[in-house]
Amino acid sequence: MEWLEREVKELPPDPAESPYEGMDPATWAKIRQPEPHSAAFWRVRLSCGHFKGQVTTDVDWRPEDGPKLSTEKRAAEMRRKLEAMWSAEGRAGWPEEGPERDHVQKMLDLRWPRPEPDQDCYACRHAWRITGYQRIGWLTPRLDTKKASDTHADAERRKAEARLAKVEAEARMLRRQLGLPSDDTGGSTKKVHVGFVGPHHLVPNQSKN
Ligand SMILES: [Zn+2]
Repeated sequence: MEWLEREVKELPPDPAESPYEGMDPATWAKIRQPEPHSAAFWRVRLSCGHFKGQVTTDVDWRPEDGPKLSTEKRAAEMRRKLEAMWSAEGRAGWPEEGPERDHVQKMLDLRWPRPEPDQDCYACRHAWRITGYQRIGWLTPRLDTKKASDTHADAERRKAEARLAKVEAEARMLRRQLGLPSDDTGGSTKKVHVGFVGPHHLVPNQSKN
């Protein structure tokens, strides 16, 4: 994080009630500034390359000072109080469970540095790079092409079956005409033979008679 330029602003006393949703009045009373005061507002460049304005510090703070740390004792005390609050309020106390609370916990580990070395980047929140994707389905209902081709195949099959039946009927008629035995199989497969209507297969061996 790079500290670029700053602007000192005079601020009125903090409001009597906490502006932070969910913060209990006792915590707010401790951090509230009841008198008019001034603060430095910095514009910074974050590690992601985005700029952020409005990072506040004490007026006398300079980047070369580094963040001011709480004492071990004070950080431990803050942790105890926050953890008691989080468990007492059904884990719903300020800040909400999730990234914000994780951030508070991280700051406690670092002894509550001020200014915070971690700043949320609002630009990054809206600048997403797609690094992977997952198929979630069709955008429009899919045409059932499989079913359509099945229908087409069915029609073809019905046509072929009709033709087969016709050819078989013709073959039976011709055999009857010629006085030949039926070629309809009585064998195990029950399949009807078509084709091979050439006389060398079907004409009974006359020499045996
Ligand atoms: Zn960013």
